[in-house]
Amino acid sequence: VIDHGGGKITSLSAKLHKSLNRKAIIDRKLLTAIDHKNLQVYYQPQVDLTSGKVHLYEALVRWEDEELGQVMPDELIPIAEENGLIHKIGLFVLEEAAKVAVRLNENDNLISIAVNSSVREFSNRNLSADIISILRKTGCDAKLLELEIQENFAFQAEQESSILQQMNELGEHGVEFTLDDFGTGFASLRYMQTLPITKIKIDKVFIQSILTHPKTQQLVAGMIQFGKSMGLYVVAEGVETEDQLNLLKTMGVDAVQGYYIGVPITADSISHSTYTI
Ligand code: C2E
Ligand code: CA
Ligand code: CA
Ligand code: CA
Repeated sequence: VIDHGGGKITSLSAKLHKSLNRKAIIDRKLLTAIDHKNLQVYYQPQVDLTSGKVHLYEALVRWEDEELGQVMPDELIPIAEENGLIHKIGLFVLEEAAKVAVRLNENDNLISIAVNSSVREFSNRNLSADIISILRKTGCDAKLLELEIQENFAFQAEQESSILQQMNELGEHGVEFTLDDFGTGFASLRYMQTLPITKIKIDKVFIQSILTHPKTQQLVAGMIQFGKSMGLYVVAEGVETEDQLNLLKTMGVDAVQGYYIGVPITADSISHSTYTI
C-alpha cells in the first residue's frame, strides 16, 4: 500500500466505514421496523389549478429510528430494493394511505391518494391482487388511488406482459397511473406507448431552474405540450416560489406540488391544514 499522505485517506476510509456501517444497521433493523409498523408515512398536498383546491395527497415514507435518526426514502428505498423488503414497505405505505383516504372522504370522494411504486414491486406477480385486497380491507374506493411509476422503472421485455396485465387489472378497478420524474429518464416515450398512464409529473429538477434557464423553460413548455397532445393530465412538482407557480400557471399545467404549496405532513395534521393558491 502506498501512503499518499496519511490524514486524507484515514478520514475517507472512516467516512466510508461509517456509511457502510449505517447501511448495515438499516439492513439489519428494517424488517423488524416494518413488522412493528415503526415506519411513518407523510403526505404532501397537490393542488389542481382548475379548482384551486387540494385534490390529492402523495404518500412519502420515512423512518425515525432512535439509533439512526431520520432515514429518508432516498437512503431507505435503494436498500429495501436490494434486500427485497420494498414489497413489504410498498404494501405498508399503501395500507396507511388507503386508511387516510377513507378518513378524508367520509362525505365525498374528492381527495385522492398517490403512492410511489418502484420497479421491484411489480416483480411481485400478485401485486395487483395484493393491492385490491388492501383496498377491500380498508374500504377504500380504488378510484381514490393513484400509483406513481418512476421512469427508471426499466423493465425487461419478458416482464412487460406481466406488468401490463397487472396495471390493466388495477386500471379496470379505477386505479390511475402517473409517470413520475418525467423528463429525467430515457424511456418515457416507450412507456407512454405501452403502459396505461393518464398523468405525467414533470420532475423538480426542471421546475427549480425554470426561471433562471431559458432552455429549461422551453423544455418544460415542450413537456407540457407533449402531455396535452397525448390527452394527459400534467403535474409540476418541486414548486418552491410564487414566481415559479405563476409562470407554471400561464404555461398551462394542470396541477402543482411543492414546498411553496405545502410540505409533507403527518396524517394527523392533514385535517388542520388549509391551502390557498
Ligand atoms: P418523488 O416521488 O419525486 O417525491 C418528491 C420528493 O421531493 C420527496 O422527497 C418530497 O419530500 C420532495 N419535495 C417535495 N416538494 C419539494 C420542493 O418544493 N422542493 C424540494 N427540493 N423537494 C421537494 P422524499 O420524501 O425524500 O422522497 C424521495 C423519493 O423517494 C421520492 O421522490 C420517491 O421516488 C421515493 N419514495 C418516497 N416514498 C416512497 C415509497 O413509499 N415507495 C417507493 N417505492 N418510493 C418512495
Ligand atoms: Ca412521486
Ligand atoms: Ca382517481
Ligand atoms: Ca421527482
